[in-house]
Amino acid sequence: MITNEQAFDRARAVLPGGVNSPVRAFGSVGGAPRSFVSARGPYVTDVEGREYVDLVGSWGPAILGHAHPGVIGAVQDAASRGLGFGASTPGETELAELVRDRVGTRYLEKLRLVSTGTEATMTAIRLARGATGRDLLVKFSGHYHGHSDGLLAEAGSGVATLAIPGSAGVPDAVAAQTTVIGYNDLDAVRALFEARGSEIAAVIVEAAAANMGVVPPAPGFNRALTEIAHEHGALVILDEVLTGFRVSASGWLGLDGDYEPDLVTYGKVIGGGLPLAALGGRAAVMDLLAPLGPVYQAGTLSGNPVAVAAGLATLRLADDAVYAHLDATAAALSSAVSLALSAEGVAHSIQHAGNLFSIAFRETPPTDYAGVKAQDAFRYPPFFHAMLDAGVSLPPSVFEAWFVSAAHDETAVSRILDALPAAARAAAT
Ligand code: PLP
Repeated sequence: MITNEQAFDRARAVLPGGVNSPVRAFGSVGGAPRSFVSARGPYVTDVEGREYVDLVGSWGPAILGHAHPGVIGAVQDAASRGLGFGASTPGETELAELVRDRVGTRYLEKLRLVSTGTEATMTAIRLARGATGRDLLVKFSGHYHGHSDGLLAEAGSGVATLAIPGSAGVPDAVAAQTTVIGYNDLDAVRALFEARGSEIAAVIVEAAAANMGVVPPAPGFNRALTEIAHEHGALVILDEVLTGFRVSASGWLGLDGDYEPDLVTYGKVIGGGLPLAALGGRAAVMDLLAPLGPVYQAGTLSGNPVAVAAGLATLRLADDAVYAHLDATAAALSSAVSLALSAEGVAHSIQHAGNLFSIAFRETPPTDYAGVKAQDAFRYPPFFHAMLDAGVSLPPSVFEAWFVSAAHDETAVSRILDALPAAARAAAT
């Protein structure tokens, strides 16, 4: 048997930082990351054979828990018929129909399947530029939309965790095409559109921000943003990569959808744990994509049949009872976290976006990235490690949401609850 430290040392010799995605390196919490070999239901098991209750959920896809037999069976069945054909399949049409029917044709008439959330947002932006003939993109600070060049300015997720303003290697000319403004600040939105409205191709917004910790949109924010953008002829790209099919059967639009974004992006749950993502919108905009229109996009693995099978099985199994369980579990856990921290006198607020939640170590809930940064973030690493020592795997950064699943039953939840008092004590010191 090897230890987690040995696995990390070996990885560091061949993978930059020992990882294939930065937050996995435990940089902001310290210590050797756990190296996992298997997962089932609400649990993950590391190379040392230690089992943890998992609240990362593969960063979102695992709403049914890990290795759900219905999903694994569908994947095995699809794999046995061939891993990919580089051609059309009936499954990809079925998945697009299922998503369109779940979300509604008011928002989605056509979809294109891609492999990652990064590709989905990147293509949505190209499409918006192609549709409007304009170049400028507006994003919000602390929002994360993947790692394409134009989207890393003041981004959330790993960019926030590493406390860097963006990325080296992004040409100034590309960065200049993205304007970043404060989240939940409609005055800033109005001022920007008044000054530069005719240059703006699109505004991209997380449906509910959850990559700087969870910071929900102020009531009416998404609607007002959409109205302002539309008044100026710009498109709205609603990024549901994280929230889509997690916070409700039809994503954030199912909870707060009294506006019509022009394009919506999906990832994570839609692929059931395999690499699959999508963008969708009105046919008039989507049909600008090649081969019908002049906006190019393609992918060797786009609509891969094994990933499609995982996505179809996951969405079919995610019924109302699953969403009710996710909501109830998130509510119970978040109030237990809050009680434990209050008992130790730790200033905190818990933010929710549907069943996504996270802690901010400050009394008042932050409403934007500046507020998120103004917290006692140093309290998270000891809290995190106390939970890990007690067998609970949390996201290794205070800037990430916690993910529950339908497999988090009473046994798993009580293991988390038992671990909280010591973790809250660790956070207090
Ligand atoms: N958009 C949002 C809201 C995300 O949370 C993420 C990933 O966390 C992405 C886009 C990028 O997705 P991917 O990591 O699949 O490229």
